[in-house]
Amino acid sequence: MASGVRIPDTAEISEAAAGAVLTIDLGAIRENYRRLKALLGGAECAGVVKADAYGLGAARVARALAREGCDTFFVAHVAEGIALRCALGAGPSIYVLNGIPPGAETDCAAHGLVPVINSLEQLAAWRRMATARGDRLPAAIQVDSGMSRLGMTPAEVDMLAADPHALDGISVDLVMSHLACADEPDNPANALQRRNFDSLRAKLPPVRASLANSSGDFLGNDYHYDLARPGVALYGVNPTPGRSNPMLPVVSLHAKVIQTRDVAADIGVGYGYSFRTSNPLALATISLGYADGWHRRASGAAFFNGVRLPFAGRVSMDSIILDISALPTGSLNAGDLVEMIGEHQTVDNVAAFSGTIGYEVLTSLGRRFHRRYVGG
Ligand SMILES: *Cc1c(COP(=O)(O)O)cnc(C)c1O
Repeated sequence: MASGVRIPDTAEISEAAAGAVLTIDLGAIRENYRRLKALLGGAECAGVVKADAYGLGAARVARALAREGCDTFFVAHVAEGIALRCALGAGPSIYVLNGIPPGAETDCAAHGLVPVINSLEQLAAWRRMATARGDRLPAAIQVDSGMSRLGMTPAEVDMLAADPHALDGISVDLVMSHLACADEPDNPANALQRRNFDSLRAKLPPVRASLANSSGDFLGNDYHYDLARPGVALYGVNPTPGRSNPMLPVVSLHAKVIQTRDVAADIGVGYGYSFRTSNPLALATISLGYADGWHRRASGAAFFNGVRLPFAGRVSMDSIILDISALPTGSLNAGDLVEMIGEHQTVDNVAAFSGTIGYEVLTSLGRRFHRRYVGG
């Protein structure tokens, strides 16, 4: 029976009710887009907004990019493409990187999505859809230049090239591939993949070409082709690991203190007593845990007024205990916010001490935060 109670959308969790506040700077995303465009010179810069724009909100992020003139977007799934089409309306090109799962051709065509065709099988299904609709349908073709993940093999490209009817009813508007080692500029795999890409696309219609993701954009002009496909760099993660980050930070995360306590020496703290106090400590428990995407295996710290507050004990599902003894007594209280990602601790720092990469930190960000969009 309808109770009259509405379940709030994650987009409307109030700051007062939330355990943590995620701030997403759309202005910084726009600035990062401008920086990438400048780096690319003449090539077009798309926006990769798969996985809900790496957890940051695909509709809002894509609209912010559109204001910078971006009108080509990449998602991974057909369902993401449909949602993005609803957010952006007709006009922008929306490419679906994983292509079309069997049976999803109708949805893909109905929403004007451009599938990235990864196999002859996907191509045949898309061709049948074009025949059924009595229409020409757009497509990108992905070739496997040496990552062995997605895209047509060299043998498939040869078969396609040998079949004069392979592209009947299909308008190929992009030939693309993806780099496996773009974040290692000295890795010879990059140049090898580029050469493979060139020889494969020479067998296909002479349309626009695309190879580079974020890190690929920093490998030089040879990698830019007609269209670049940055994702993570737009969101402030360093696309040039080991060098200083050329992008602006986009995300900050602040967790709320639930309560504080003073404990004596030789006390077990948190699950399994993995932490024992060696002397009396002041502790604060914050409202953020592994259910919010903060890796359980990550040790780490929060910051308050620039003071580092190390974790005491294990990360729980909904909370983390901090050692706040470095702060003046009484300066941190229930309801205060501590920095988890921000000025003192970047997404890349958190990734490093969590044993992962910035991509995973972003895409793991939870659904229980109050989300604040600024700079839009
Ligand atoms: C995810 C993805 C991108 C964007 O990669 P970033 O490293 O985030 O810039 C580009 N192209 C393909 C094929 C992808 O899967």
